[in-house]
Amino acid sequence: MENKIIKNHNLFVSEEEKTLNWLEVQNSFKQNFGSEVYNSWLEKIALVKEYNDYLILSVPTRFFRDWIVSRYLDKILAIVKEFKLSLNRIEFKIVEENKQSQELIKIDELNKVTEIKDSILNYNRLNPNLNFNNFIQGKSNEIALSYSKKVCEQVSRYNPLYVCGGVGLGKTHLLNAIGIELQPQNNVMFISAERFMYHFIKSIKKNDMVNFKDFFRKSSVFIIDDIQFISGKDSLQEEFFHTFNSLIDKGSQIIISSDRNPMKLDRVQERIKSRLAGGLVVDIDVPDIELKIKILKKKIEDIQSQFKENINLDDDVIQFIASESKTNVRELIGILNRIVAFSRVHNKNLSINECKNILKDIFNQTKVITVDKIQNIVSNYFNIPLSDMLSQRRSRPLARPRQIAMYLAKKMTTRSLPEIGRRFANRDHTTVIHAVKTIKRLSEQDDEMKKNITQIKSLLLEQ
Ligand code: ADP
Ligand code: MG
Repeated sequence: MENKIIKNHNLFVSEEEKTLNWLEVQNSFKQNFGSEVYNSWLEKIALVKEYNDYLILSVPTRFFRDWIVSRYLDKILAIVKEFKLSLNRIEFKIVEENKQSQELIKIDELNKVTEIKDSILNYNRLNPNLNFNNFIQGKSNEIALSYSKKVCEQVSRYNPLYVCGGVGLGKTHLLNAIGIELQPQNNVMFISAERFMYHFIKSIKKNDMVNFKDFFRKSSVFIIDDIQFISGKDSLQEEFFHTFNSLIDKGSQIIISSDRNPMKLDRVQERIKSRLAGGLVVDIDVPDIELKIKILKKKIEDIQSQFKENINLDDDVIQFIASESKTNVRELIGILNRIVAFSRVHNKNLSINECKNILKDIFNQTKVITVDKIQNIVSNYFNIPLSDMLSQRRSRPLARPRQIAMYLAKKMTTRSLPEIGRRFANRDHTTVIHAVKTIKRLSEQDDEMKKNITQIKSLLLEQ
């Protein structure tokens, strides 16, 4: 008898100690459900309270709760049980987003975020879904589209082809389409400028420049996405310039995208700018309403054939979505996906009013930024293991990212300085103060630091 009590007691203690790491659970949701479902629904779930055998989770609206309960609850329970076996029940609490925990950052636009994350994943891997067949032509992109096709017919006639336009307007899609088209007969290299930089720096560290150069110079079609990120670092620009020149000299086709005109690239050497502008520069503009409607209709068709289901959105609803989405195509598609999801659950045609409500929800989205999330993203960004970043080691390649993470934790969460210190392997709050001051000063003085901070913030908001 006595034995049993002790055993139970032990069991209880060990379970108590094993608090869930919600970020890990969320990651597992993402892997199990896919990013589409995750971004639309599961990301919004927060952990309110953890008991030995059940969890209280929060969701932003009643509708969210019903949807999640009706479609995903069993799987959610199975997943959390993998982290904590004793759980057998989940309760949901509705917490309106503006009243949720204080660790909230408001996002007023859907898409202020750059492509960094995507481009890392896309590195040299062409996405078969981004091709010419499903790129819809409109006034804003017809010139860019027609020259992209011409490049495929007559390689190195327009060299380089430089596609410029704002975020979410279809640059990556077009570059990808060119890559797909040319791949059968060519050695196509498709890389983001971010990734190019990453490899460059890695090969310097590993003393492996020869391979780096060979690797890039052997391509006959070299596609580089988001070249605005190559600015800064002189040595990198030199390398880029050499690669660029030797490729052009041997008749390789170069295709470049950027969010701005070559002459407007920041901190890029003049000779590189004029070389970039020396081929053909084409713009993609913000889509007009006709193009938006065409894209929506095509997307609806795609969803219908992919999921073998009927999606009934009236023309005036489509018109409404097109006129509401002001910024770019990515946002437009995001909105459509949400609306389709809602119309599925209601199983009926949505009215304009219902769409208005959904859009209100979308535009009022909030994102939870936690210290964990910041630590993960910062360590990934600098490509160092999280354990090293949190360790006591003081070498600069670890200390700077650590300080940046502390700085962002102070700026982007409501955690107090001592709380932040504790999350960083029990450091003292004075260490956090020092970090915050240092990074604040550096980010005012040093462009590189400023850029790092901006990009990490974008990544955090994008998650
Ligand atoms: P960018 O690289 O300019 O930021 P993307 O190429 O990533 O933009 O485009 C954002 C999203 O919009 C992608 O899903 C892309 O397929 C889609 N898209 C953009 N323009 C078009 C178009 N004209 N037709 C079909 N889809 C488009
Ligand atoms: Mg892009």
